[in-house]
Amino acid sequence: MSEKLRPETLCIQAGYSPKNGEPRQIPIIQSTTYRYESAEAMAKLFDLEATGYFYSRLANPTCDMVAAKIAALEGGAAAMLTGSGQAANFFAVFNLAGCGDHVVASASIYGGTFNLFAVTMQRMGVEFTFVDPECSDDELNAAFRPNTKALFGETIANPALTVLDIERFARAAHAHGVPLIVDNTFATPINCRPFEWGADIVTHSTTKYLDGHGATVGGCIVDSGRFDWMAHKEKFPGLCTPDESYHGVVYAEKFGKEGAFITKATAQLMRDFGAVQSPQNAYYLNLGLESLPLRVRRHCETAQKIAEHLKMHDKIAWVSYCGLPGDKYYERAKKYLPNGSCGVISFGVKGGRNAAAAFMGNLKLAAIETHVADARTCCLHPAGTTHRQMTDEQLAAAGVRADLVRLSCGLENADDLIADIDQALAAI
Ligand SMILES: *Cc1c(COP(=O)(O)O)cnc(C)c1O
Repeated sequence: MSEKLRPETLCIQAGYSPKNGEPRQIPIIQSTTYRYESAEAMAKLFDLEATGYFYSRLANPTCDMVAAKIAALEGGAAAMLTGSGQAANFFAVFNLAGCGDHVVASASIYGGTFNLFAVTMQRMGVEFTFVDPECSDDELNAAFRPNTKALFGETIANPALTVLDIERFARAAHAHGVPLIVDNTFATPINCRPFEWGADIVTHSTTKYLDGHGATVGGCIVDSGRFDWMAHKEKFPGLCTPDESYHGVVYAEKFGKEGAFITKATAQLMRDFGAVQSPQNAYYLNLGLESLPLRVRRHCETAQKIAEHLKMHDKIAWVSYCGLPGDKYYERAKKYLPNGSCGVISFGVKGGRNAAAAFMGNLKLAAIETHVADARTCCLHPAGTTHRQMTDEQLAAAGVRADLVRLSCGLENADDLIADIDQALAAI
């Protein structure tokens, strides 16, 4: 499939081209195993000498078709689906960094990712340094160590809505001989393709906009195929020296820049951790992807309209949305997100914690959920739910204001949503 095709076309056609008489829609290959006519034929697959499927814990044709579509959308060389966004970020980092290694990450990232890095992977012996994404170049460079294996950030951070300066982060990563990994969940490849700005690996929680209907939990890793592992051989022995657990294969030699990262993640990490996406879920994800450009445009239009309305409302203390002129990230968003950012807004209700809770309780259309980024509008008051054990002072230190409401604008009519917000504010 030509890379020159536009996203709307790729969302429909990439990843699967049926031949004469084959199903038009992607087939769900609901099979654990695959039959071979000789032991030799299967041995070649085990040795990675031939391509093909032998067990769906490693790879499944339906999942691969959907992964190929996401790779095409991101402009990448190879991709794999995972069972969740958490598994995607874990694999993307663990494929490069093991016990005794170090990773630099933006401090402004999804809470689940922060916990994965700061607690669980730390326990596995991988050390992390978290940097303020707005730190100076000197501070960013100072975070790297000789054993640093990657730099990590989010295009638009969940829930802080900070916009990453991807070019600056890529420059810093490359100056230290490591790849930049970017979680592109909130922007989606419709609004930003991090590879165009120098990122090397992109991850997604496909649970959010890519599926877009709140139907399936899933993740994806896409490799740009541009990072030259062999040029930094001493840093990446896992990719550049023989894998004894896989018949002595040297991934970077055998599969080149384009194939090494995803092949290793599949052959080692999927084999051993088994965080697969089911072919049925991949099928649902593919249905979501078909309408992604339409949906993302609409999510962004509605969020823009609601953000502008809230900004003018006398019961609203502040609004954070990078599409608003004067927002801290407005100028940067014009560069990286010229067609829109995402459907998620955060704002403060005058009157603090109690007023925010009362406002949320009054909403009729927007549901109270911990989820974001699907067809149904939802909202969350962190100080009253996920962070409720904290005092106002502790919340401030964590960067979460007591009055903060996170609103994920769905695909309902924007005027209906605004009317719902207005009646909920009027009643507090
Ligand atoms: C939700 C989310 C994740 C985690 O994904 P799951 O699919 O819930 O495992 C990772 N990164 C970001 C930015 C997210 O929003």
